Amino acid sequence: MERKTTVLCETDEIKGGLVREALELGATAAAVISADQIVVDESLADKCRNPKCINYGLSKSCPPHVAGPSAFKELLETVSRAIVFKIEVPSEVLYSGQNLELFQLLHETAAGIEQAAIRMGFSGARAYAGNSCKKVFCADYLECRALGEDGQCRNPDRARASMSGFGVNVAKLYAAAGWERKGVTHETDSGSIRMDSICGLVLIC
Ligand code: SF4
Repeated sequence: MERKTTVLCETDEIKGGLVREALELGATAAAVISADQIVVDESLADKCRNPKCINYGLSKSCPPHVAGPSAFKELLETVSRAIVFKIEVPSEVLYSGQNLELFQLLHETAAGIEQAAIRMGFSGARAYAGNSCKKVFCADYLECRALGEDGQCRNPDRARASMSGFGVNVAKLYAAAGWERKGVTHETDSGSIRMDSICGLVLIC
């Protein structure tokens, strides 16, 4: 009984603190989900290498340099809750060549929520984003510095690993949060705008 009360208090704290933090950082919406709603599918991680993604192997945050689905499943055994957040934008922005800032915001929001969780006492909090940090932050550099001799990322406060390399099923995350994945239309005075979104995940532990 006491454990249940503690978990409820923590969930209220996360809702009040971390969901608000996510919205302040730039998320369109954020939700607390239970860790058992996070589905890991190895075949999704396989898509990074077959056919090979152009970013495969280029950063410390992408396969084959990440621990992958098996280790992520083990990590989930130690986690009870997570924050999932999304950033909604017009589809034409997401699918244009001008979407770099959008993915930077995705990574920075994930990292910001993680750091806020750590400040709240969830010392094991870990954030995951989408798209390769090599492409998003280090496109002007020949190599990922974290893969080099000193092992230091150039952007430790901004860049986070992509969920893809761990096989996280993003469609199931949207379902767990109660969100539509695609095809959301916003009505404005000048007509309808088709919207899409990208999402990130922060494990709270
Ligand atoms: S140095 Fe750049 S490419 Fe390497 S992990 Fe950091 S942000 Fe990603």
